[in-house]
Amino acid sequence: MNTFLKYSATALLPLALLTASCGNNKTNGGTDTTTTKPAAPRVAAPAFAYDSAYAHIKTQVEFGPRVPGSVAHGKCAEWMTEKLKSYGLTVTVQEAPISLPNGQPVRMKNIFAAFKPERADRILLLAHWDSRAMADRDTARKTEPIDGANDGASGVGVLIEIARVLQLKDPNIGVDILLVDAEDQGNNGSEDSWCLGAQYWAANKPANYNPRFGILLDMVGGQNPVFPREGNSYILASHVQDKVWSAAAALGFGNIFINEQTGPTTDDHVPLNKIAGIPTIDIVHYDTDQNDYFPHHHRHTDNLSVIDKSTLKMVGTVVLDVVYNENPVAPVK
Ligand SMILES: [Zn+2]
Repeated sequence: MNTFLKYSATALLPLALLTASCGNNKTNGGTDTTTTKPAAPRVAAPAFAYDSAYAHIKTQVEFGPRVPGSVAHGKCAEWMTEKLKSYGLTVTVQEAPISLPNGQPVRMKNIFAAFKPERADRILLLAHWDSRAMADRDTARKTEPIDGANDGASGVGVLIEIARVLQLKDPNIGVDILLVDAEDQGNNGSEDSWCLGAQYWAANKPANYNPRFGILLDMVGGQNPVFPREGNSYILASHVQDKVWSAAAALGFGNIFINEQTGPTTDDHVPLNKIAGIPTIDIVHYDTDQNDYFPHHHRHTDNLSVIDKSTLKMVGTVVLDVVYNENPVAPVK
């Protein structure tokens, strides 16, 4: 996550944008009469097991910092691959040689797990799985890698639990889980040095892979969360942001998924939008009062002790609600 960019301005979205009608108004037979089609009742998604999501975060942290090229990184990649396979997903690991911003050559690993890969109608869920090689926002041990319990592991933990849920109740749509590498090794002031895994994946995705939309999770397990409407998501995929924020509000989380817009941030959703052409949003903890990410961002204190299970439950519940209410167009196989 790029800390350099653009968080100076926040602004309230015009109310009209936030309350865009979901109903269908139609005119009957050339008269002036209009009727409003009642909204279909929402499908109840299966329960999200936040204890499992927490356990998945703990497992990742216990490998050690998942810095690309490290032993912990290799072990974590193997564990995530096997875990997703154990839930019946079809897993592909995309490896490529890349250079980190410090010049170090490493093998990057993006992990792509498909639920019902034969289905045409699909949704993409993603998170980065690497952890930052330096604690550059800390006051001590600035050159040492961080645990990245929230910044990295939390999104992965939520998505692995979602993979488990998919096999329990068919959402009647294809779902892909993409765990991208080398998001968080960038240099402030160099936008392209971030999101290396997502950049590579977006430039090399199969030509016929066109999910309806993507949802990126980043820092989704911290205490006292605030999820405002991130600026690039609003600019590039506002209809997806509306869908997710509406679901959160309907579930009673409108005080956390707030209708306040932040400045644009550089995160993995940007190459997905701009290179892959997949409308993708970012759910990312950003405190609009502090004009900053969660308080342990890129510090050694981003460890297991700052993970809040109730935040994991909320985010997992919102994403599952969106997934299970996304009706397919094509007949479901
Ligand atoms: Zn980060």
